[in-house]
Amino acid sequence: MVSDRQPVKFPTFDNVEDERRHRKQRLAAAFRLFGQFGFDEGVAGHITARDPEHLDQFWVNPLGMNFKHIRVKDLLLVDANGEVVDGNWPVNRAAFAIHSQVHAARPDVVAAAHAHSVYGKAWSSLRKPLDPLTQDSCAFYGDHAVFDDYTGVVYDLEEGKRLASALAGHKAVILSNHGLLTVGQTSVDEAAWWFITMERTCQAQLLADAAGTPVLIDAEQAAKTAGQVGTPMSGWLQFQPLYDWIVGAQPDLLDE
Ligand SMILES: [Zn+2]
Repeated sequence: MVSDRQPVKFPTFDNVEDERRHRKQRLAAAFRLFGQFGFDEGVAGHITARDPEHLDQFWVNPLGMNFKHIRVKDLLLVDANGEVVDGNWPVNRAAFAIHSQVHAARPDVVAAAHAHSVYGKAWSSLRKPLDPLTQDSCAFYGDHAVFDDYTGVVYDLEEGKRLASALAGHKAVILSNHGLLTVGQTSVDEAAWWFITMERTCQAQLLADAAGTPVLIDAEQAAKTAGQVGTPMSGWLQFQPLYDWIVGAQPDLLDE
């Protein structure tokens, strides 16, 4: 029997309106998934998507709206001064302080994700990078940093700059005593996937470390595996089954 589903294919666009709609759909879906996975903690957490036309502006979640309720039409567009230029909810000040500086420092990045997920924040208190313990963890091998400072809630642009500087050219940064932050070069999909798999990688290492003395994947194999599972296209691809599932289960997220 032949499936009526189509193989996944990386999207291309011939106009900016279609690209914007696509990014917003992926962003709304990423919030629903973060909500489904329990990554929300009160009003904390934000995922941003750079606008494909106005490159210094980004789409973000409204302050105080539950991740599980977010629809395409709820997303806010925020400019370089932190003003909401599309939408009628306030923006989280920390979201602006962090994400504006990450997007400014990394013109190659389309999206950034940050939340106070339980295993990520537990791991962040250890102030050390993740080890190459599993095939999945190799996505972060040599490609994540630790921002080993904590100075309260990030409301200050200078603190956002320091955080972006710690991220440097990596796909992720562990914010000490705070949580995880990931970025996507190709897509919102990629940033969301790196966050989801990094959170699970923290969980896996916490479990393994608690159970005994894990054996690390050696450097050569870890680097090889990173080239297989850690590429931007791999991150994009891994998100596709999650996107299809959440849109099927909660189609109202696409309301615009
Ligand atoms: Zn935070």
